[in-house]
Amino acid sequence: MEGVWFQELQTKNLSIGCSVKEVLLKQQTDFQKLQVLDTDIWGRMLVLDGAIQTTIEDEFVYHEMITHVALNTHPNPKRTLIIGGGDGGAIREMIKHDTVEKATLVEIDKAVIEAAKKYLPEISVAIAGNNPRVEVLVEDGIKHIKEKENYYDIVIVDSTDPVGPAVGLFAKDFYAAIHRALKDDGIFVAQTESPFYNKDLIRRVFKDISSLFPITKLFTANVPTYPGGLWSFTMGSKVYDPEKLDMSKLRKLDTKYYTPEVHKASFVLPKFVGDLLK
Ligand code: SAM
Repeated sequence: MEGVWFQELQTKNLSIGCSVKEVLLKQQTDFQKLQVLDTDIWGRMLVLDGAIQTTIEDEFVYHEMITHVALNTHPNPKRTLIIGGGDGGAIREMIKHDTVEKATLVEIDKAVIEAAKKYLPEISVAIAGNNPRVEVLVEDGIKHIKEKENYYDIVIVDSTDPVGPAVGLFAKDFYAAIHRALKDDGIFVAQTESPFYNKDLIRRVFKDISSLFPITKLFTANVPTYPGGLWSFTMGSKVYDPEKLDMSKLRKLDTKYYTPEVHKASFVLPKFVGDLLK
């Protein structure tokens, strides 16, 4: 191996690496170690505490799937929330839905927002300008959600892995607070890590969300820079079933990964993943 390489220890026995053209930013924020690297294979990349968060080359998969599956399941999402997601990719996708009147982003670490604005303009486009439909709040998502009741149509949890300030974003009382913050027909989606390497977390989160929401479903997408590639998302819905939609009536969106067919197919689980939920 020549030159400078970045290596992420994805589990204690597994690492992923790539060659680095340039280190654009390296700082210790109040919450985490933040890096922006320009890589040969994935372009610019945001790294927090050594873990890849998003890259220019593959970000569309995760950001489209964490938002559009939920938003297209809801017939009229107006007030929507993202907890985490300070890079801005998920909120960029959210406002592609014309029904959305106000999309709020609650990120705990201002430095992530600032770094994304400066180094990842393609991803942060919606939070960089003065878009009147977008609200950006720098605060703890757990505190924010506890202060709301019967308020949001959609809540998306776009968190870091369950360490540091994100631990509480995987807790049952947090999901209960989200259930309260949602309207009577609200929908919630969280990124729930790798079906290969986070089996216990997926099982536990699915059980917790099922105890609160009558419709709970797991769906997946392929994100090359995340551990194992196959990534899971868990949805809790009060009324609408994401698999019982008239796919021909879904809002048409300008996307690179998400389509009505992908929406439907994302709920078809490999056997070992489905078995986690039994
Ligand atoms: N897509 C990414 C992934 O799965 O690797 C996550 C992207 S986004 C950068 C995650 C964000 O969640 C981070 O910027 C982090 O600061 C934020 N975060 C962590 N805990 C939080 C909390 N309690 N409230 C709000 N934001 C939080």
